[in-house]
Amino acid sequence: MSYDYDLFVIGGGSGGIATARRAAQYGAKVAVAENDRLGGTCVNRGCVPKKLMVYASHFPSQFAESRGYGWTVGDGSFDWSKMITAVNNEVTRLNGIYQGMLDNSQVELFPLHAKFIDAHTVEVGDKKVTADKILIAVGGKPHRPSNIPGIEHAIVSDDIFHFPEQPKRVVILGGGYIGCEFACILNGLGSEVTQVIRADKILRGFDDDLCTTIQEAMQQHGVRLLNNCPDMVIEKTEEGLKVTVKGEGEETVIADVVGFAATGRNPNLDNLGLENTKVEVKKGAIAVNEYSQTAEENIYSVGDCTDRINLTPVAINEGRAFADTVFGGNSRTMSYENVPSAIFTTPEAGTVGLTEGEAREKYGDEIKVYRSKFRPMYYTLAGKDEKTLMKLIVHTESDRVIGAHMVGDHAAEIIQGVAIALKTGATKANFDATVGIHPSSAEEFVTMR
Ligand code: FAD
Repeated sequence: MSYDYDLFVIGGGSGGIATARRAAQYGAKVAVAENDRLGGTCVNRGCVPKKLMVYASHFPSQFAESRGYGWTVGDGSFDWSKMITAVNNEVTRLNGIYQGMLDNSQVELFPLHAKFIDAHTVEVGDKKVTADKILIAVGGKPHRPSNIPGIEHAIVSDDIFHFPEQPKRVVILGGGYIGCEFACILNGLGSEVTQVIRADKILRGFDDDLCTTIQEAMQQHGVRLLNNCPDMVIEKTEEGLKVTVKGEGEETVIADVVGFAATGRNPNLDNLGLENTKVEVKKGAIAVNEYSQTAEENIYSVGDCTDRINLTPVAINEGRAFADTVFGGNSRTMSYENVPSAIFTTPEAGTVGLTEGEAREKYGDEIKVYRSKFRPMYYTLAGKDEKTLMKLIVHTESDRVIGAHMVGDHAAEIIQGVAIALKTGATKANFDATVGIHPSSAEEFVTMR
């Protein structure tokens, strides 16, 4: 049977574009459907604009720190609309680059919503196209908790990139990494930020030391944290949005903006026509095997809509593994072991491998934890009490380093290198035998005894 395409990709985000290009490199005839801007969440409303705003948020403290080094910096002022315009211009530039990449790879773009008619047929606009293989890479969308009265007044993280003015008083709901990052961004830019969480600590699922260190630093920098607050109500009043938080006591906060629904994301399976296929959905996500294959033999799925590890490089790697396997004659699966990640809070964190809690659960007493907390050299002249945390978790029997965690400046950059060591099975003896780079914070990873 002949089809219009060898591969039809639904979703032109991180996973979809990487897969389309890799399959096209192998000579496949490929098309992508994207109903929004090219690049998906990461480029348009995630990693990229967020990280640019993180950079913007660091300047006030850097201006202050520079004084300790002899600089006199005049009264700074911040223009939100200039920043947002610059951020969005960069996003538009990247949209163009993605279009160029598809053109260069001879991947056809349908700038439209796509929906399954059957396992080999997709409806895009008023056209029906057929494909031998179809990849679902439709990503995720923010989740609004339904059990908070007044939640309709809250915004989601997507909205902040289009705010014409800086919200001065902000309440952030939830303690996940996106909520914490936005709390730090807005706090750094001078907004008054209150973060409300149900648990006693932010960043559930990360190493406990890392969570505590970030939480303490965020509070020290001025983020007000209301923890252990299981119930809250949002009301619109003349003064602004009134958030009544109920925990051990009751507290009211007035805000210009509430939300960023930092309360999670769900796979974006709206109007996808999955009912016309045998594709299975489990716990709201597309169910796949280790080759990213769904229950319908010719349909595959990668990225956030499969809810495995929801990160851009993971979506890209899953997609490339699929393309290599199906179109490149190189059968392989994505490895989920030692996937590093970062939290772009202030201070930043980087992490790879097992948390101390996970390591204890898996290996009991057969682990040794090396931990160092210190003030980096940069902050001495700046006169600031900023701390860096570094932590290695070692499996004593094999001497393998099974976890590395860091909170502090450049943690993401540093952990990326450490992740290679973990991925290649490095032992603590290998770390010890590595000569440090002096003076740096990173050298602590090879000098901890
Ligand atoms: P997406 O990139 O979301 O792409 C899916 C695309 O499919 C979208 O463009 C959508 O419009 C399109 N689509 C959906 N349905 C259809 C349809 N039926 N027809 C046509 N098109 C359709 N990850 C990191 O690694 N590092 C970070 O620092 C980071 N920060 C983040 C910050 C925020 C605020 C958010 C929200 C996410 C962040 N992420 C980060 C996560 C990262 O953005 C996602 O993991 C990644 O984008 C997933 O890629 P994907 O291809 O699965 O989906």
